[in-house]
Amino acid sequence: MKKFLLYSSAFIMLFFIFPAICTISPKDETYEASTGDTTSNEVNNNETQNTEETQTQQQENQTSEKYDYQKYKTIKLLHVDTNQIEELNIDEYLYGVVASEMPANFEIEALKAQATVARTYTIFQIINNSAKHENADVCDDFNCCQAWISKDERFARWNAEEAESNWNKIVEAVNSTSGKIITYNGAPINAFFHSNSGGVTESSLNIWGGIDYPYLKSVETSGEDGYTQYSSEVTFSKEELLAKLKEKYQDCEIDFNQENCIQITELTSSGRVKTIKFGNKEIAGTEARTILGLRSTNFTFSINGDNITFSVKGYGHGVGMSQTGADSLAKSGSNYEEIIKHFYTDVEIIEVNSL
Ligand SMILES: [Zn+2]
Repeated sequence: MKKFLLYSSAFIMLFFIFPAICTISPKDETYEASTGDTTSNEVNNNETQNTEETQTQQQENQTSEKYDYQKYKTIKLLHVDTNQIEELNIDEYLYGVVASEMPANFEIEALKAQATVARTYTIFQIINNSAKHENADVCDDFNCCQAWISKDERFARWNAEEAESNWNKIVEAVNSTSGKIITYNGAPINAFFHSNSGGVTESSLNIWGGIDYPYLKSVETSGEDGYTQYSSEVTFSKEELLAKLKEKYQDCEIDFNQENCIQITELTSSGRVKTIKFGNKEIAGTEARTILGLRSTNFTFSINGDNITFSVKGYGHGVGMSQTGADSLAKSGSNYEEIIKHFYTDVEIIEVNSL
């Protein structure tokens, strides 16, 4: 009964109180992510106010408004290239997401974790972010929502002899987790993921600020160093580096004769660059990553003669599930639920119909 009340209150928060808050909240966060959301920082899906008012609303609305996976079984997918909207069964949509977001040669339990994460992300968007696209639930641009690829296009990019078995593996990952989503306090989580954390994931607060999602905490993870995404290097000449910075900051000047002409001024708790100073400009690590095209904010640098080399660990923003970390855990015997609970703190995996 307590659980029912908890879930019901969370439901009321999502459908009645959050939309009211949403209409007056400024949208000032910018996300970059595999699931590159731009507005979800506004959502506080962790509050569980249990007031008389919400209980009354709950009794009045639970039958008519109850969240139902069947209701969202068909989703509207916007193809950004053509501006066409396609209606798809949600699991068929997820075949195309998993096929696009994770290599098919990853372990089946990692693919199942990816399918569950992608389903949760999709339902989170439908519930909390329906205004993002005018007549669609999600789009196929990975910078905005989640990447998606059609079966035909996917087959054309795989070796012919592997295509059928690859596809069947993805279908199995989605079908065997059908209806399963990740929740915190009874509500779907904002399920961010990335390619490789470089050994430790990052809290959402350190990357995007805003709400400190209690399930998006920094956690250590092992085995990612076995993947090519783990380390990379980018080298610029002094002139190239300054030119890149000047594209954004015209008044940026660096006196390379000065010691500490480039200086990392603050690290996040997970060891990523929070702020870095280039000459007279101090900028966020996330911005330096964008300007210099680095794979993550988990980087160091060295100056050798005319060259500045950035050595980068990991790939992506580092928040939520690491895909290569998931594959590594699966190889060590973890199942998809264990993988998800490793990367998302204090979450549950439930049948969406039981929300
Ligand atoms: Zn989108």
